[in-house]
Formats: sequence, structure tokens, C-alpha cells
Amino acid sequence: MSLSNCEACGKLFITKFEKRCKPCAQLLLDESHKVKDYVRNHPGATLIEVYHETGVSLQTIKDLIQSNE
Ligand SMILES: [Zn+2]
Repeated sequence: MSLSNCEACGKLFITKFEKRCKPCAQLLLDESHKVKDYVRNHPGATLIEVYHETGVSLQTIKDLIQSNE
């Protein structure tokens, strides 16, 4: 266990390996589900389209693509 600061909101929290505090991790999970659902239902959707339709930020969508989860 060590002290870390959340990469999303900057709050300090105790963590083993997570980079985000609980609320931010939960938010990211919700957003990732939203994006995946949208893409599943709209194959071939563009980044901009997903951004407009899901309300998830472009940076978050790019992060999701990079993390490849
Ligand atoms: Zn946070």
C-alpha cells in the first residue's frame, strides 16, 4: 500500500497499483462501457461520432483505444 495521486482528479488516495481513485475508476468504467456499447451497435463509427453520441471526452476515448481493454 502506498500513497498516490489520482491521474484523473489529482486527489491523494491509498493504492496498491491503481492510478485512479475509486470515483474516477468507476467513472472510467462507466464511460468505457458506454463507448464499447456504442461501437458494438455502430460498427465503423468514427472517434468524433463516438464522442458526440456518448458524451465521453476525446481524451478518454483515445486512452481506451490505447489501453486496448
Ligand atoms: Zn480521482
